[in-house]
Amino acid sequence: MTSKQSYHVSPSGHYGDFGGAYIPEMLYANVEEIKNKYIEISNEPEFQAEFHQLLKDYVGRPSPLYKANTLSEKYGANIYLKREDLNHTGAHKINNTIGQILLAKRLGKKRIIAETGAGQHGVATATVCALMKLECIVYMGAVDIERQAPNVARMKMLGATVIPAESGSKTLKDATNEAIRDWINNAETTHYIIGSAIGPHPYPDMVTRYQSVISAEIKEQIQEKTGKDYPDYVVACVGGGSNAAGAFYHFLHDDRVQLILAEAAGKGIDTGHSAATSILGTKGIIHGCMTLLMQTPDGQIVEPYSLSAGLDYPGIGPLHAHLITTKRAKVYAATDDEAMQAVLELSAAEGIIPALETAHALAILSKMDLKSEDNVVICLSGRGDKDLNTYLKYIEEHKIEL
Ligand SMILES: *Cc1c(COP(=O)(O)O)cnc(C)c1O
Repeated sequence: MTSKQSYHVSPSGHYGDFGGAYIPEMLYANVEEIKNKYIEISNEPEFQAEFHQLLKDYVGRPSPLYKANTLSEKYGANIYLKREDLNHTGAHKINNTIGQILLAKRLGKKRIIAETGAGQHGVATATVCALMKLECIVYMGAVDIERQAPNVARMKMLGATVIPAESGSKTLKDATNEAIRDWINNAETTHYIIGSAIGPHPYPDMVTRYQSVISAEIKEQIQEKTGKDYPDYVVACVGGGSNAAGAFYHFLHDDRVQLILAEAAGKGIDTGHSAATSILGTKGIIHGCMTLLMQTPDGQIVEPYSLSAGLDYPGIGPLHAHLITTKRAKVYAATDDEAMQAVLELSAAEGIIPALETAHALAILSKMDLKSEDNVVICLSGRGDKDLNTYLKYIEEHKIEL
């Protein structure tokens, strides 16, 4: 079954009304080079062999698809968890950084820069730079450095230089601004590994392709478990949208599969402390692409808020903006409190402590209208180790009995 609408990127880099490449002139040559070469390079047999070998032997893929029996009973449907939390470095981010480091090497780049929010993308980038012996500079908001200390330590141990972003809300958006500034100043030598399905074309498509291994595996694994090569629902949390894009990719044009996004409502959608981009956002340009973003009427970015550093971003990838506005994907929002409840629930129910970002995808299950025969795949994007301090603080402040 196929839909008439295309959800793949157009040759000009668009997803419907969204996407494109809005970049300063000084980055034009870099972005053009990547645009002209990324598909050809990624499809070379040698690239494919190295990519898949590393995903298997270094990352530990395929990640399991686990039938969560206690959750299934509780929500009255068959709930499967796609265990990206079991990847080396603890999240889906490594799939993309492996792809991009192989690309950067083939483009002859010697220096790698990245932005990071929760620190997972910074760790994944520092990891592949150590593996490939390339210099690594990671920009991270000063507030995030504070709340994600273990990941900062990891990046340093892996040989990366971590530079704090002190502007604005001192979070992911500001780190991204600093990374773009660096790239402009060092365009010739440097490849910028963007960590989500965002940025100027071809980044959203490139990141989605490297992450699409997630849905390729889901297709095979769900066939093994249910006899059908598709689930009824795929659910993923969305910051910029890379784990969701990867989990959706091979089902984008299969109408039997409902695509569900979970975004961060923060303290509540109408509280002024939220990162519910698709609900609060309007069309505009952020970090090189036309998409939905939280902005004032005169186009200034509204500071987002979420307890989870990985979802604390005012925009959403252009693919998702297109999926949402065409109603191909449905969005639910979960608050900090709902996400924290989901963390505690999954830990107790299945013995899996999820990342706080991931917990948003679990928290919306109760808002969905599930039937007992439904097969639901949740992209378990990352593990909760990095969030333990946040969890302990929350448990103490709310006097939760463990
Ligand atoms: C970074 C991160 C996210 C959010 O990023 P996407 O690009 O939207 O996937 C979600 N979960 C985890 C565990 C992360 O590290």
